[in-house]
Amino acid sequence: MIRDAYGRSLATLRVSVTERCNFNCIFCHSEGAGRGSFDELSVNDYDMIAEATSRLGLKYVKFTGGEPLLRSDLEEIIHSFKEHGFEEISITTNGFLLPERTEGLKEAGVSWINVSLHSLKRQRFRRITGVDALNRVLNGIEKALENGIEVRVNVVVLRGINEDEVEEIVKYAIGKGASVHVIELHPVGNGAHIFRERHSREPIERLKKWLEEVADKKEVRELHNRPRYYLGKNFVELIEPVGNPYFCAGCTRLRLSADGKFYPCINVYQTHFDASRVLRSGESREIKIMKIIEGILELNDKRRPYYMWNLDFEAKGLMVKKGIQVGRIGLPKRAKLQFRSARVREGRPLEA
Ligand code: SAM
Ligand code: SF4
Repeated sequence: MIRDAYGRSLATLRVSVTERCNFNCIFCHSEGAGRGSFDELSVNDYDMIAEATSRLGLKYVKFTGGEPLLRSDLEEIIHSFKEHGFEEISITTNGFLLPERTEGLKEAGVSWINVSLHSLKRQRFRRITGVDALNRVLNGIEKALENGIEVRVNVVVLRGINEDEVEEIVKYAIGKGASVHVIELHPVGNGAHIFRERHSREPIERLKKWLEEVADKKEVRELHNRPRYYLGKNFVELIEPVGNPYFCAGCTRLRLSADGKFYPCINVYQTHFDASRVLRSGESREIKIMKIIEGILELNDKRRPYYMWNLDFEAKGLMVKKGIQVGRIGLPKRAKLQFRSARVREGRPLEA
């Protein structure tokens, strides 16, 4: 298992297969993208990436976008990662094209599907996504469940729009036999534009209080230290990244953008490794794979938590508790450590 200088493992790959989308969500962070026009990577490119990352010990990949189902070859890409030994393969989709794709996705080997559902009210759904497609998305969720695919509903909490509906969406999903990810609005992309007006922690705190009372069991996942509350066999997971050093301390993720660049963090744009140059070179497959491995290892050395504690105080206790190493050799000086949540709470733009 590869670890970074802060003791965090590199275990999960988040792949944006396209920047194209058939929705226009008011909060979309586009996975930190918006890179203009470029050639998307091919199935063969992804096959080499799957081989390189699997040799590095990665076992979990998530496909996202834009809207990943706009790629008609997504099933082939999934199949390729499966062939290279990936054990958990999931996608996050807006669900519009899901009704027609569930069988193929199941056959390709998808482990579960996250379906974004930010409202159960038709007009609200349209206001948030720009598309009158609530029924199609609900149909997609049902089709996936009928085909025996695990579904996790993603809901982004928006002050003044759907904050009164979060519990209802949770109950809807659990009632259907799905799980739920309740997501705090992130100040990236369009999310940054509406952050001051729409970000609120209150609904999440309310939900947490309720879950603490009614859940059968609570777990804290390694990924982002996310709390997960079980209600029967399904669960509600809370994703609370904003100004949260505990979240960053558990970041085991590497990101690949649709134009072929690896990034360590959604908030960091300058630090990256451009694998598209390697993939487009005239080298042999084996040399390309070796160069991708080297590029990722170099990038891993530069990974650092975006939100950090004052390590002199809380972090030491926490990291010892989590059983991971405290920091690097030559621990950064206290003066250099950043705690940016104040900037975020003030609605000021984040620096990368
Ligand atoms: N198009 C697909 C979808 O909407 O599910 C996949 C791409 S989308 C960028 C991935 C996930 O990020 C979705 O669940 C979406 O709701 C969520 N998301 C987008 N912008 C966000 C933001 N600013 N803050 C928090 N979550 C966001
Ligand atoms: Fe498209 Fe997903 Fe962004 Fe909405 S959140 S605009 S569906 S990529």
